[in-house]
Amino acid sequence: KSNLVRDKLESEITKRQLSDKVKIFKTGCFGFCKLGPIIVVHPDRTFYTKVDVNDIDEIIESHLEKGIVVERLLYKSPIKDEIQKTIDELDFFNNQMRIALRNCGVINPEDISEYIAMDGYMALANILENNTSPIDIIEQIKESGLRGRGGGGFPTGLKWEYATKYKNNQKYVLCNADEGDPGAFMDRSILEGDPHSVIEAMAIAGYCIGANTGYVYVRAEYPIAVERLEIAIEQARKVGLLGKNILGSSFDFDLDIRLGAGAFVCGEETALIQSVMGLRGEPRPRPPFPAEVGLWEKPTLNNNVETYANIPIILLKGANWYSSIGTEDSKGTKVFALAGQINNTGLIEVPMGTTLDTIIYDIGGGIHDNKKFKAVQSGGPSGGCIPSELLSTKIDFKSLTDIGSMMGSGGLIVMDESDCMVDIARFYLEFAQEESCGKCVPCRVGTKRLLEILEKISKGNGEMEDLDILEDLSYNIKDSSLCGLGQTAPNPILSTIKYFKDEYISHIKDKT
Ligand code: SF4
Repeated sequence: KSNLVRDKLESEITKRQLSDKVKIFKTGCFGFCKLGPIIVVHPDRTFYTKVDVNDIDEIIESHLEKGIVVERLLYKSPIKDEIQKTIDELDFFNNQMRIALRNCGVINPEDISEYIAMDGYMALANILENNTSPIDIIEQIKESGLRGRGGGGFPTGLKWEYATKYKNNQKYVLCNADEGDPGAFMDRSILEGDPHSVIEAMAIAGYCIGANTGYVYVRAEYPIAVERLEIAIEQARKVGLLGKNILGSSFDFDLDIRLGAGAFVCGEETALIQSVMGLRGEPRPRPPFPAEVGLWEKPTLNNNVETYANIPIILLKGANWYSSIGTEDSKGTKVFALAGQINNTGLIEVPMGTTLDTIIYDIGGGIHDNKKFKAVQSGGPSGGCIPSELLSTKIDFKSLTDIGSMMGSGGLIVMDESDCMVDIARFYLEFAQEESCGKCVPCRVGTKRLLEILEKISKGNGEMEDLDILEDLSYNIKDSSLCGLGQTAPNPILSTIKYFKDEYISHIKDKT
């Protein structure tokens, strides 16, 4: 739909001979999914929402020709009940801090010169020009406090340091863009809106660990992300930012793309490595970690898309700048995909330490149809349901784990008073069960048993002792599964029993 709107705008501007006065810039996603297609008119930054091809004539005749804003296309805040006219006035953006998403919705992702104009490739150029030592770069990343944004939260600088320690003539840099959580689209949006930030970071990672080849493993279901990544790689090669002797230095680095076929387990790094090599995507025990034995048994550094997107700007602005944002244990910002029963669904980025109620009400605009908030699931199928009494919880790695959920890769699914929490637990369990690779018994068989009990309870055939069995089995599966999928699959059950046990009991007692 956005393409149709842009095509119509372009043809009307040409037809009306306004091309000298009005320039049209294509960008990636703004993050405000609910309101697309979006047009921002500069210099006043008027933010038009839900634009249809039939609105183009009015925007041109009223706004562009007479300077009169088309009010009916402006955003109305459901919380404040007021019109917010410019992008700077929108609560949705005002409460965010966009670091990983800094260029999304700002630049044309298919034009490398626009990325360069935003200081893109400057971090890489500085490093190559000054012959900066990899140790110094890694030290900066360590000092910044950046932790992996794919779910595990492992300190990124430390991971890079490990990868330098294993010597080999051939090493690899890998990017995990196999985003599979239901309702999550953080990686997709970054690759669609700012692919060069990931390419630049991967080249810097290659320089640091001594790798000359990288792979981006991206879901085939993300055709626009794949296409833009391909365009970006080609453009970077053409101007000497990928390939042999980058920017005239002795550093060689090139990238290739591998498409994933949609298996959730391939987000687990050892399964991902198998899949990149063309093998069945199954996790394997660690150690050895990929930093020692990775792609084709060579040392491999793997980070996710959002983690990489943070790297160039950290190196440009400095570790102190980044570590001044966030909390003691979690530095910087986090991107979240807001979905479910919330007014402003979309992609947001907030400083670590932002409370859940700021996200749900100030940014998310509250709950659909003025219904009551019931819970929010963070961390996708690996996370947990957080009830309303914990809405003041600060978003950071530790706080979320302390209340039985987790950061995960950044999915936030909001539920309202009409949602049944037993059904929610069943939905996530169904997903985990279907996606289990079947390699180990606790996950393969255990999740099936859990699902059977949940189905029994939802149909009104449950017994009170089923709750104890659910909990016991959940802890067993968590303790004995081989990979993160099985180790976290019971979390939605445990958190819903912890905070919404009454709903399980009423299913059992009412037999409905
Ligand atoms: Fe496969 Fe599940 Fe075992 Fe992971 S925990 S290896 S997904 S069966």
